[in-house]
Parts: sequence; C-alpha cells; structure tokens
Amino acid sequence: MSSQKPAQFTEFTNPNLEVMFSAEQIRARVSELGRQITANYTGRDLVLVGVLKGSVIFLSDLMREIDLNLKIDFMAVSSYKDETVSSGDVEILKDLTHSIRGKDVIVVEDIIDTGLTLFRLMEILGSRGANSLKIATLLDKPEPRIKTELVIDYCGFRIPNRFVVGYGLDAANRYRNLPFIGVVKDPGMV
Ligand code: 5GP
Repeated sequence: MSSQKPAQFTEFTNPNLEVMFSAEQIRARVSELGRQITANYTGRDLVLVGVLKGSVIFLSDLMREIDLNLKIDFMAVSSYKDETVSSGDVEILKDLTHSIRGKDVIVVEDIIDTGLTLFRLMEILGSRGANSLKIATLLDKPEPRIKTELVIDYCGFRIPNRFVVGYGLDAANRYRNLPFIGVVKDPGMV
C-alpha cells in the first residue's frame, strides 16, 4: 500500500481524490430514495438484497430511510471485469440466506457500469419466485453499458465514465470508508 500524500493530509482530505458527491449530497439523495421506496412498498413484504461488498454503506443508510418493516439479505458474486462477455456465467460466491419466494425484492447495488454482472444476477433471482424484483443503485454510469435493457428503478446519481471510490466503492479494496464519493486523480498513487 503506497502512501505518497503529504503528511498534512489525512485519508479524507487526500489531495489525490477529487470529491464528486459530498457526504451531505449523498445523505439528501439517499433520503429521497428512501421516501420513494417507502411510498411504493407500503403494505408489501419488502426484502433489500445487497450485493457485497460495494453496496454495504448505501444499503445501511438506505434501509434507515425506509419507514417499513423490511428485511435484508446479501449476495456476493464474481465480476465479469477481467473476462470477455461470452466467457460464461457469474459465480455465486455467497447466496441468499432466506428464500425470496413471494417477496417484493429490491436488489441494492453500488454502481452499474456495463451491467453484465447485475443482468445475470437479475436472471438468477428472477427464477426464484419473487412477487416483484427491482433495482436500486447509488450510481449509474450509463456510458460503458452493454446490457442496455437493464431497467434501473431507483438511482442515486447518474455519473460520467470516471472511476469513482468511497462510500463503499473501492480501488484495490481501499477507500471504501470514505464518507464521500470521489475520483482518483492519479491512479498510480492508489
Ligand atoms: P458491471 O458488471 O456493471 O460492469 O460492474 C459493476 C461492478 O463493477 C460494480 O459493482 C463495482 O464493483 C465495479 N465498478 C464499476 N465501475 C466502478 C467504479 O467507477 N468504481 C469502483 N470502485 N468500482 C466500479
């Protein structure tokens, strides 16, 4: 792990990070999403399914903005990132703990890029008898999208094609704890 930032900076004021969305902006937007979901799911059997690990901070904030008697569960899947599109299925590294049959499910993601991983995950979950299956993502990066047919029901922010970190999102498993979302200016310093 390199640490080339000058000594007067902390991780949260790292000069190699440019803030895209502040903690306050994220809080306000997540609160809006929570209100929308509350209104849409009143009287229904809601389960939030977080996709590990990137969604954990978004999910934990979002669930506290949803004024309903909901449940949560998690999945972990391998990513297509280093593979070609036709190279095969996503691998389920960790499956749900409870059945989603008859439930109203919202899959909670950190960011949707090509959409390949989430598209396959939605196919897998789509075969499990849920009453409804929707997507909530904090960030939507539409430019690199391959699975353009993916419908995003709840989206925090639409962003340009930049590599972002913080608020759950990592670079080489670091930066997840940043309270804001930022862009790494010099990837060589990650
Ligand atoms: P997709 O299958 O949509 O291309 O991949 C989505 C996954 O790629 C996300 O869940 C996330 O792990 C990773 N990813 C895509 N774009 C970014 C980004 O800008 N920053 C970070 N940290 N991860 C990203």
